[in-house]
Amino acid sequence: MTSNDFSSAQGTPRHDLESSPAATVSAGPGSGPAPEDLLRRLRDRGAADPVTHVERVPARAGVPAPWPPWAPAELRAAFARRGVVAPWQHQAEAANLAYEGQHVVVATGTASGKSLAYQLPALATLLADPRATVLYLAPTKALAADQLRAVAALELEGVRPACYDGDTPRAEREWIRKHSRFVLTNPDMLHHGILPGHAQWSGFLRRLAYVVIDECHTYRGVFGSHVAHVLRRLRRQCARFGATPVFVLASATSGDPATTGGRLTGLPVTAVTEDASPRGGVTFALWEPPLLPPEAGSAAPVPPQAIGSPSVPPQAIGEHDDLRQVRRSALRETADLLADTVAEGVRTLAFVRSRKGAEVVAANARRSLDEAVPGLGDRVAAYRGGYLREERRELERALLHGDLLGLASTNALELGVDLVGLDAVLICGYPGTRASLWQQAGRAGRSGQEALAVLVARDDPLDTYLVHHPEAIFGAPVEATVLDPANPYVLAPQLACAAVEAPLTPADLALFGDGAKEAVDELVAAGALRQRPTGWYWRHRERPEVDLRGEGGAPVCVVESSTGRLLGTVDGGSSHFLLHPGAVHLHQGVSYVVDDLDLADGCALVHAEEPDWSTHARDVTDLSVVSVRSYVDAGPVGMFLGEVDVTSQVVSYQRRRIATGEVIDTRPLDLPTRELRTVAVWFTLSPQSLALAGVQPADVPGALHAAEHAAIGLLPLMATCDRWDIGGLSTAVHPDTEAPTVFVYDGQPGGAGFAERAYGTASAWLRATRDAIAECGCETGCPSCVQSPKCGNGNNPLSKPDAIRVLDVVLANLPD
Ligand SMILES: [Zn+2]
Ligand SMILES: [Zn+2]
Repeated sequence: MTSNDFSSAQGTPRHDLESSPAATVSAGPGSGPAPEDLLRRLRDRGAADPVTHVERVPARAGVPAPWPPWAPAELRAAFARRGVVAPWQHQAEAANLAYEGQHVVVATGTASGKSLAYQLPALATLLADPRATVLYLAPTKALAADQLRAVAALELEGVRPACYDGDTPRAEREWIRKHSRFVLTNPDMLHHGILPGHAQWSGFLRRLAYVVIDECHTYRGVFGSHVAHVLRRLRRQCARFGATPVFVLASATSGDPATTGGRLTGLPVTAVTEDASPRGGVTFALWEPPLLPPEAGSAAPVPPQAIGSPSVPPQAIGEHDDLRQVRRSALRETADLLADTVAEGVRTLAFVRSRKGAEVVAANARRSLDEAVPGLGDRVAAYRGGYLREERRELERALLHGDLLGLASTNALELGVDLVGLDAVLICGYPGTRASLWQQAGRAGRSGQEALAVLVARDDPLDTYLVHHPEAIFGAPVEATVLDPANPYVLAPQLACAAVEAPLTPADLALFGDGAKEAVDELVAAGALRQRPTGWYWRHRERPEVDLRGEGGAPVCVVESSTGRLLGTVDGGSSHFLLHPGAVHLHQGVSYVVDDLDLADGCALVHAEEPDWSTHARDVTDLSVVSVRSYVDAGPVGMFLGEVDVTSQVVSYQRRRIATGEVIDTRPLDLPTRELRTVAVWFTLSPQSLALAGVQPADVPGALHAAEHAAIGLLPLMATCDRWDIGGLSTAVHPDTEAPTVFVYDGQPGGAGFAERAYGTASAWLRATRDAIAECGCETGCPSCVQSPKCGNGNNPLSKPDAIRVLDVVLANLPD
């Protein structure tokens, strides 16, 4: 999942690697061909050129800045011992702003040394004021541990940095609360431990000078909205003790980081985005696998009036796209490229989205190498998450030293921070966000030597769009991290938590923002809060149970019936799709078949079985408009943002042959309906405008449906979501709008901010959608443009040419 795609390397003090680049360079062979020559040989295949664009990302010399005058000599000396001779420009700029008391977000590339930007003001303050404290938040324990090592290595007197998380022994906790002045933790611990125990933390919070929020782009959607309120609760407790800490945020590059930082903290935030760190040159090629001759589709036509695309995750992302064989599979293409680069003696890392995919790529590359030169295949390996840490480090070492030449890996998260400076990186499918793309590409290139990166497009509208629109990758970022703190499903439980920590006052309502008053009134009506002259009080003995990362209802347990072993859990919102009786369920690469889904107990019983089919659930979806928040009246076109109720029922599933994608049969299911109140963006068109544009009435459902699929596929261009976070529905006439309508909605109760971002960028979003469809080389629609891997209606009906007409009508009328 994209939310896990941040690199553990990013929070570590990479600036010391940068200022002494030799530290990252191993004794690898490094005698491969120049990237341009290598690329020429890779793309020379006699057929159509698969390369749609080559971008030369030039090497950049760093722009150093002087140490700020307020940075004490002791601190400069400590950094100098770690190899940091001077800060880069962006580090100094962010550090100066923070030291002056401004809230700041530094949003620059991977390995640009964002940590120095917050370490500098925070540690200078700790040295100047022996009572001051700093709180550092990372999204994961591992990242906090990395950062602890970095701060501890500076060996500064009296700072006493310490991690405080679920793994911290009880015996050490009190010492940390009393004596550490640089506490590293995560939002979950802040929420479950530190804020409820604020009385024990009063000494620390009273003197809190800085709050550092690392990797803040990971706080998105519903999780991000929860974290936004945890930070407001933190600010409230600090204010009670008289402290007003400065917030310093570090983010991957993204669109509009100041706005996102402001939403997350509730404070005005200044952005520093100009990256002044040095980097090696990279030749970056965008690669589109060729179209294969078309085959007849096998799905039976289902012509419903309203056509929904549920927002559920796939069982194995990526693999079933490849079954359709409309374009040559990105996996095969990547395997060929890996074999070719290895044959050239080039050390290559291939990133593949799934574990199974990584193994397929490695196995295919090995086979073709062995066919060419027996034994050469041994120099390629797959890098599996299931390996032990030592085994993984050994594989990395072998690649760095050239014993191995090719490695296929799932994502950057599992790789060690030292695995950089490779000659080539292959990226099989857009990894979901630009931040992840650059983290993966950033493994290539070392000082003084050029490297090659290749993005191989998968059959997916967003991948197709990107390989034809290099400006969306190499130009200014538009993809923003979105969250919606006003989500009532987040706000109400967070206000309940706040009320337990201290009674809520009218001033607090302003702190918690839009919707806080309504949420408090509802909590009073529900008997959870009692209003007294001094504020709103929590009425129960127990604290409310609120999970920051919980999504879509209670999770459903997956249990192996023969052993009683718990294999894992599935998000409640997806359980009907993924765990219906007969569903094939993949767990860490092993296949299970569901015998029974017990909804009352929240548990699915499964047995291990490897059938040669996959299962695909279908649902019927109904949607009604509850309220309109905002709209644009554009003549024959209307664009709306509002609340909707989505009712869906999983009614059947298809079994499809894994090898061919052929449908074996469709089986009925008997599952209850489910309801979701959420936020949607939708547009309507007048039937007259569609007729004028040449869309025949009979083709309207297929036109809208195709436009809906592609629009869902392209939304991740504007917001950091993936298509599994969003659902859609299209209909030739909707009872609430009385017009042909396409809805796109957040898959989370109360909304997650994605639909809102889509509404705010509607013309850019739909323009990209239109271009992605129009520029796809297929004739009648394929997974690269209008087909969707999660369609509840078996991708039927779909009309590619009419979808372009629909979007042209919308774009012609909608103001920019
Ligand atoms: Zn297509
Ligand atoms: Zn669909």
